[in-house]
Amino acid sequence: MKNKPYDYLIVGSGLFGATMAYRVWQAGKTCLVIDRRTHAGGNVWQDHKQGIAVHTYGPHIFHTSNSRVWQFVSSLVTMNGFINSPLANYHGKLFHLPFNMHTFRRMWGVNTADEARTIIEQQRAHTLAMLHGREPQNLEEQALCLVGRDIYETLIKEYTEKQWGRPCTELPAFIIRRLPVRYTFDNNYFNDIYQGIPVEGYNTLIQKMLQGADVRLGVDYLTDKAQLDALADKVVYTGSLDEDFGFSLGHLQYRTVRFEHKTLDIPDFQHNAVVNYTSADVPYTRIIEHKHFTHFGEQVRALPHTVLSYEYSTEWQPGMEPFYPLNNRRNTLLYEQYAQLARNEKNVLFGGRLAEYKYYDMDKVIEKALQIPI
Ligand code: UDP
Repeated sequence: MKNKPYDYLIVGSGLFGATMAYRVWQAGKTCLVIDRRTHAGGNVWQDHKQGIAVHTYGPHIFHTSNSRVWQFVSSLVTMNGFINSPLANYHGKLFHLPFNMHTFRRMWGVNTADEARTIIEQQRAHTLAMLHGREPQNLEEQALCLVGRDIYETLIKEYTEKQWGRPCTELPAFIIRRLPVRYTFDNNYFNDIYQGIPVEGYNTLIQKMLQGADVRLGVDYLTDKAQLDALADKVVYTGSLDEDFGFSLGHLQYRTVRFEHKTLDIPDFQHNAVVNYTSADVPYTRIIEHKHFTHFGEQVRALPHTVLSYEYSTEWQPGMEPFYPLNNRRNTLLYEQYAQLARNEKNVLFGGRLAEYKYYDMDKVIEKALQIPI
């Protein structure tokens, strides 16, 4: 006989929590989803301003090579086929991203892959000699090995230090390996075979994922833990791990992002969804123009106004939303200590970007949640 009202209490309604809620419902079990924000969906939630869907917490372009994940998402919403091709603005000069033949052509005037390779080989020779066969230990070494000094200094160094608030020599190498380096004229930012944004928006995706759950918004789990835990047999916790343990071992570090949203009475501001500002003298990291996320920019023609978001990166402080885990050595060791405490909590499953302290893309979060036995 069941004595608790729900099988699962899910703390956090972002992609990990919402995917879990859907699976719990599909398995014929019950769940209560709570979130301390007043909207569901975590950082994929979208606001709407004058008919334009705004990525309120930064650009979210879905991409995956996992057909199970793609089929799952596509069974709930229609994906619009959007391909992300950001530009980088360095002191007014525009470059294509990710690093590809368009970038190399703009940088050095070369037209062939052989010419680009020759220049990059020359520029990386010094770094390779310094490494003496060892793996790059930090983001700077990794970037110099991948693309050489010109690209590093124009498109990576200042942008990265602005985004992460630390020298590239103190950041992990894996961060820059997220970006493809291609010796072809292909501006697709991702290598994944499936890409797009829900035509109906992310809020619809989340609503569909939560269709079988009871949802309570504006509820802070950590201030009422004992009472909320008593509502279900099992807990799925998707918030920050250090916060769940009262920061007892110290604070994990995160970067947070602040947005200034602006509406302009012009149909098109920057002719692209994402433009990164890679120099240190510009205080924001990128400008997002949301109408360009629609299918082939259909809204660019249809609407006389446009909505922009200027993205500023700062260090996380208590009371702010944590966005990016800072996976350096100090935090990795501290996280491992918290993870040890978490493993002792037999009834609680910890998952998602915050609880696992991983720089996860959306698909990886869903992939993980799809693998959990219910
Ligand atoms: N990056 C860069 N220059 C750019 C864009 C990205 O140096 O113009 C680096 C930067 O260190 C960043 C990393 O590549 O943290 C990953 O970028 P991505 O676009 O994946 O970041 P996200 O969209 O998750 O903020």
